[in-house]
Amino acid sequence: MKGIQLLVITVFSAAFLSFTPEHKKLIIIDAGHGGSDMGANRNGIYEKNIVLNIGKEIQKLNSSQDKYEIIMTRDSDTYNQLTERTTLINKLNPELVISLHVNSSPDMESLQQGSEIYTQNTEASKNLAKRISKKFNVQKIEEKNLHILRESKAPAILMELGFINNVKDLEYLTSEKGQKEVAQKFADVFNEYTE
Ligand SMILES: [Zn+2]
Repeated sequence: MKGIQLLVITVFSAAFLSFTPEHKKLIIIDAGHGGSDMGANRNGIYEKNIVLNIGKEIQKLNSSQDKYEIIMTRDSDTYNQLTERTTLINKLNPELVISLHVNSSPDMESLQQGSEIYTQNTEASKNLAKRISKKFNVQKIEEKNLHILRESKAPAILMELGFINNVKDLEYLTSEKGQKEVAQKFADVFNEYTE
């Protein structure tokens, strides 16, 4: 009987702790677009799916450590308004916010390749962009007045991971290897950031 009680308490505690992440720092991954909002597309490949896959991959990688907890603004193919996203973010009060997107240029085939990072008008946001840019092929870091950046109280960046209409970027961002690599780079940035 004692053994069973202990087991019940242990299981209950584990379940309870997993819902009270106050001992962990929170990081929000915002997978851009979703649902009827496809984002950029190329030959039936949509931005909304690429960023969701990478976000989930980050979450998966993260499950083996207990320093921080990843929360996604969406974890399925649903459309959330930008205001819903920033309301959630500000309610959770995370350490940082990463909004994931994929770029597109007006050309049929983009000569531009690589990622771009947009920041808030704060040192913390610019510092986060710098940390990320050490791991990725970042072509541009720029302050920009975008809803998710303007309305998030926590340090936030919005990253365009590559060009959907650049054949190399597209191939990389849609491959399992590429998505895992991108996710690992973010996991490394977070580990260093939360040390
Ligand atoms: Zn986008």
